[in-house]
Amino acid sequence: MNPFSLSGQTALVTGANTGIGQAIAAAMARAGAHVIAAGRSSCAETVAITGGEALQLDFADPMAARDVFASRPIDILVNNAGIIRRADSVEFTEEDWDAVMDVNLKAVFFTCQAFARAALTRGGGRIVNIASLLSFQGGIRVPSYTASKHGVAGITKLLANEWAAKGINVNAIAPGYIETNNTQALRADPARNAAILDRIPAGRWGRADDIGEAAVFLSSPAAAYIHGAVLNVDGGWLAR
Ligand code: NAP
Repeated sequence: MNPFSLSGQTALVTGANTGIGQAIAAAMARAGAHVIAAGRSSCAETVAITGGEALQLDFADPMAARDVFASRPIDILVNNAGIIRRADSVEFTEEDWDAVMDVNLKAVFFTCQAFARAALTRGGGRIVNIASLLSFQGGIRVPSYTASKHGVAGITKLLANEWAAKGINVNAIAPGYIETNNTQALRADPARNAAILDRIPAGRWGRADDIGEAAVFLSSPAAAYIHGAVLNVDGGWLAR
């Protein structure tokens, strides 16, 4: 048996229509998984890449996934959907606080809960949450994003403690600076782009595929004894 294969597994990836989520879905499919590409926007492009199927899920309602896992066996859950709002903390609005916390943290917890209620009855599963460098660092002008991503790292460890002995591996990936829509403005600003590149030991921006392959690893039999880890996939950023 290839310990890195996901053959015979079904994986649900949230925010799979674009960016890191689409790359995770594609990597899971290449590793042999049947992929359910979930998004608030159409995931037709992702399904064209992965084979699999699409599922409409909008985490503006953080409980949106409550009924998804009861009706069919799903082995792997990747909580990737996320948003960011930028403003000075003295100006930051309650709306920008709640919107980000709902999608990035509350939805992640309750989607993990819904997944586990089903997976515990079947003997286990894998959860990979997408954290951030701002699970460890403060950032600036992104208070709800930083709070939410610190929270993602925290609940990843909490859930690992509760479920490791019951067969569910809960881990997270902290992506560094990755080329997606999310970071378009940073890359388009020559001064910011140069400052970021100068600090990355690998000397390049991350590619969404870099995260996809890490997510496959954490979902595979090879990672059976990994629980509660937050894996930095950041070109060495946090090592500086
Ligand atoms: P992206 O291109 O903006 O993708 C974000 C994804 O989340 C999209 O699929 C988006 O759907 C989905 N999403 C947002 N709100 C949603 C909602 N209410 N319901 C369902 N899906 C929703 O950004 P990305 O860079 O790929 O980000 C993916 C994850 O990686 C996020 O959790 C982000 O915080 C994290 N991350 C990214 C970086 C980076 O450098 N890019 C670094 C660290 C962490 P729509 O297309 O419909 O908006």
